[in-house]
Amino acid sequence: MGENFAFFLPIMMASFGVAFLIVWGWGAREAGWWSGAFFSVATGFSVPVAFDFLPTDLWGIVADTAFATGFLLFSQALLTRWRPNWVLGLRIAIWAISILICSFAVMRDIVPLELVSSDFGCFLLISIPLIAGRGQLRGWPDRALYAAVTLVALDNLLRGSSVSFTLPGGVAFRDSQYAFLMQALACMFGLFLALSALAAAMQDVLTRYRHDAHVDPLSGLLNRRGFEEAVARHDASGSLIACDIDHFKRVNDAHGHGLGDRVIVALADALRALAPADAVIARFGGEEFILFLPGADPAMATGIADAIRLRFAEQAASRLGLPGPLTASFGLTSLHRADRSIHDAIARADSALYEAKEKGRNRVAIRPALAPAGDAQSSRAIA
Ligand code: GH3
Ligand code: MG
Ligand code: MG
Repeated sequence: MGENFAFFLPIMMASFGVAFLIVWGWGAREAGWWSGAFFSVATGFSVPVAFDFLPTDLWGIVADTAFATGFLLFSQALLTRWRPNWVLGLRIAIWAISILICSFAVMRDIVPLELVSSDFGCFLLISIPLIAGRGQLRGWPDRALYAAVTLVALDNLLRGSSVSFTLPGGVAFRDSQYAFLMQALACMFGLFLALSALAAAMQDVLTRYRHDAHVDPLSGLLNRRGFEEAVARHDASGSLIACDIDHFKRVNDAHGHGLGDRVIVALADALRALAPADAVIARFGGEEFILFLPGADPAMATGIADAIRLRFAEQAASRLGLPGPLTASFGLTSLHRADRSIHDAIARADSALYEAKEKGRNRVAIRPALAPAGDAQSSRAIA
């Protein structure tokens, strides 16, 4: 049986080493540690093959060092998720002591001592993240990972505790039950560990990509795509406010793009501070923003838009050290069942915004939902 595993295990572990290297390239922080760990363990499992080419007991030290290093890296990968660099000194000490005892045992040819020391070292190294991980588990990939780590830890603990049964005196290591159990369980639990770690790392990568795809990096608000997805999760009732900084080009021209960016951030901060907690706020591009206020009627939305307008006009210029006034204009509408999509309401809010600009800026203009678009008579503006 051991022969069948001889090639399979190192290749399987090294394949995961490669897979994690790729995921690391996609930006998953801990995947580099996982990759190193699986390559180390692959080295450990390659030792029986190497032994056939060059029989010497010293291979035992190579295998023990590779497994201890692999488990130190497993602990580092897991703790990068759950509690970065926790008890690193202790873990390195466990790694070093385990290798020292193993080497001593190999030199004195005390096989049980070598195996017990290796198994307990690995058990301790992979158990530490189990203590740190409790209460840190986010979603099912993390829970699956925790379960896999628990199995690997128990495997090492039970194997190390039962050496005297699984490797009775006189039986060669390669023919022992110990060697069979080690390879068979490493195969099952190693696969479970690798797949759940891969799922957890991929979940992080996808979460980050999703975030990047939906959030504007300058203001930290949603972008257009994020806005449309967030609004789609609500009932179609509420109000919409479009907002645009007045004469923003002049700010850029007079004070530079850097200060222009800070003006954008200042308006984003005002929107966040004064909009209700359930508002969906987005930067639609340039110096244009949009807010969806679920369930808000036009009166309530007008009050909010005007509060934002006043806060920005009163505070932004002085806070940023600008000599002249800094204002923004607002267009408001409510969502209506007749709207085919949010885009209909956005178009109405935009035309109200255009009207606010036309009427002198620094004001809120309202275009009621039922008014036909372009009917300026039905709009009113408040300064
Ligand atoms: P209005 O009152 O009619 O809105 O005039 P405006 O000058 O604000 O409008 P306009 O659309 O002419 O100018 C918008 C400017 O915003 C032009 C563009 O250079 C600038 N802009 C767009 N995106 C950014 C950005 O991310 N940072 C900075 N600093 N400027 C930006
Ligand atoms: Mg503008
Ligand atoms: Mg604009």
